[in-house]
Amino acid sequence: MTSLISKEVICPNCGTEGSITLYSSINVTLNPELQKKMDNGELFIWKCPNCEKKYICIYPFIYHDMEKGILQCLFLNISEERLKEFGLSGIIKINW
Ligand SMILES: [Zn+2]
Repeated sequence: MTSLISKEVICPNCGTEGSITLYSSINVTLNPELQKKMDNGELFIWKCPNCEKKYICIYPFIYHDMEKGILQCLFLNISEERLKEFGLSGIIKINW
């Protein structure tokens, strides 16, 4: 099952409050389009509506691939180099 939750975030740059819809669990067998969005980081990126800087949101989520028999809790890990590569301004850590 794929499930979504909405979380409040605050822009580290300008302090603007916003919200992001996050996947607390991702089933790539039932929702194969999410695998691509996960691989390119799209699922985790939040863009500030005020200053338009982009951040990656890091939080634990359940990854489920029924075909490969994979069910695990993942926590995204991203290096400074990758942040720059994706044109991101930083990381926002989110706790459930
Ligand atoms: Zn901002």
